[in-house]
Amino acid sequence: MDYSALCKVYEQLESTPKRLEKTALLADLFKTISSGELEQLMLLVQGLVYPAWDERTLGFSSSSVIKALSLAAGVSEDAVKEVWRETGDLGSCALRLMGKKKQSTLFGQKLTVRKVFENIRKLSEIEGEQSVDLKVGKVAELLSNATPMEACFIVRTVLDELRIGLGEGTLRDALVWSFLPRVLGISVPYKKGDDIGDALIIHGIDEINENRLGGVGLIFSEEVAREVHNLFLNRVQHALDVCNDFGRVASVLKEKGLAGLREITLTVGTPLKVMLALKQETIASAFERVGKPAALEYKLDGFRLQIHKINRKISLFTRRLENVTAQFPDIVVAVEKHVKCETFILDCEVVGVDKVSGKFLPFQNISQRIKRKYDIAQVADDVPVELHVFDILFFDGHSCLDEPFSERRALLRKVVGECEHVRLVTQLWTDDVNEATEFYQQALDAGNEGIMFKSLSAVYRPGSRVGAMVKMKPVMETLDLVIVGAEWGEGKRGQWLSSFLLACYDHNSGELLEIGRVSTGLKEKKEEGLSFEEMTSILKELILKQKGREVVVKPHVVLEVAFEEVQKSSSYNSGFALRFPRVVRLREDRDASSCSTLKDVKRMFEGQHTSK
Ligand code: AMP
Repeated sequence: MDYSALCKVYEQLESTPKRLEKTALLADLFKTISSGELEQLMLLVQGLVYPAWDERTLGFSSSSVIKALSLAAGVSEDAVKEVWRETGDLGSCALRLMGKKKQSTLFGQKLTVRKVFENIRKLSEIEGEQSVDLKVGKVAELLSNATPMEACFIVRTVLDELRIGLGEGTLRDALVWSFLPRVLGISVPYKKGDDIGDALIIHGIDEINENRLGGVGLIFSEEVAREVHNLFLNRVQHALDVCNDFGRVASVLKEKGLAGLREITLTVGTPLKVMLALKQETIASAFERVGKPAALEYKLDGFRLQIHKINRKISLFTRRLENVTAQFPDIVVAVEKHVKCETFILDCEVVGVDKVSGKFLPFQNISQRIKRKYDIAQVADDVPVELHVFDILFFDGHSCLDEPFSERRALLRKVVGECEHVRLVTQLWTDDVNEATEFYQQALDAGNEGIMFKSLSAVYRPGSRVGAMVKMKPVMETLDLVIVGAEWGEGKRGQWLSSFLLACYDHNSGELLEIGRVSTGLKEKKEEGLSFEEMTSILKELILKQKGREVVVKPHVVLEVAFEEVQKSSSYNSGFALRFPRVVRLREDRDASSCSTLKDVKRMFEGQHTSK
């Protein structure tokens, strides 16, 4: 397939916000591609050349792109930077520069999807002293053979900034549309013996009762058609949750249809999507969801970690499936020593521990370790962590996903040797509301976020927010904060102010002190509530200064903002920041002099931090 054909689809995807249109565009694209190119295409439409969980990276920065563009377009690096400033992103910069160049030269050889994919991949293999120059040379060569539009998307791909507004859900729907029989919106009923009817049987629709399908005749209603379609979606989603590889799922669907998905099972070394929890407000309703007795556990305030071991190799993945093995050598060593099994997958939470007091640290203190690329041993020493294991998904050659939680926990007790740095998460089995209340208080007193309730009989469902595991934590608090600045949005939010700088009032100095930014909670459409458009028209009148996309506004508008936690922060002059802030509403009854104070913020901060 020509790379230009893919670029045309990129352009179309970028220009429509409509999910159904995007799905149709992709489905048409997938139908035309050969099996050999399918896996590459699946990665490229996600803006990747390796799956997100793969350790290999391209290591290609903006400054390398500037060098490559300078070589390919035959202009100075300063000239590239100038166009970059004017256009705002390096993809558009490439489009403009290569456009000018192409007017004076002939096109080279046509680029294919395979060639672009393989050449970009090669960047990750280049190592050593000359590696930056060699990589720049490779990309410049590719750009020299590209049309301006191809150059734009090559640049965006090497920078990992494709930005065509494509979510995983749309990609999954497109797989169903292109590789499974269409069942929705077809007025003629299907019968055994016709193409689609037979296809449904071949594709193994075994969950849907034969009678509901109209028995032997396989004639079914719109309602059943929807059920069949949802079954397709669920099966494909499940396969994706287990292997996280769109390319593999697409190839299996193309070659073997729905029934082929059964061969996609857990692979140790490849992360699977984690099981997520629903939220409950009361202990009684939590018990109602998961049944009695239930396993109650501390909900630690750290980050989720999936640990895989196979062939003596240990790999660590975050909840977003990024490979963070290199960043946590201390965890690798502890797991090697204390987990007594050769092949496994563990589901855990990692928490930071204060070296002096031994207390748990809030998440932000260890978040720096996740991104750290240098001085890793030093940071590991400065910010020690504890691993709290709460589930096992694979053990000694067998998947444990379908075993009840009570048995998975029993297995954990056998394989995890507890020590200072590796523990089983604190757990209580109970059916008693009073005992549960006490456990909840104990968890909060120990510096945890809350507790989890888990059904003892539940299987592990990758990627799902399931009722068999629920979380309970104190209700979010709110502050009334005044807007002192804002930022113009990008893309479809380009016309609106889309992120708002908030401040609280300090009685001592009489100043407004910044405490963070918020954009969550506002709506894109007026009908849905307080919208970006409405906020923009209110704030436009109050703009005092503008620099680039940033504006300073007269402190007049107060927002009620909900959040999960107050954190210490050196990023804002109040010394605090909010975790997960979300706009609740406009407080038209308040102004800068009556907004929340620094004292309110400190009181909340101190209230939430109790000893371990
Ligand atoms: P939330 O992020 O609020 O949706 O809560 C779910 C997260 O809590 C999980 O993704 C884990 O990272 C974390 N967590 C902390 N302790 C536990 C536990 N005992 N069991 C499961 N998840 C936990």
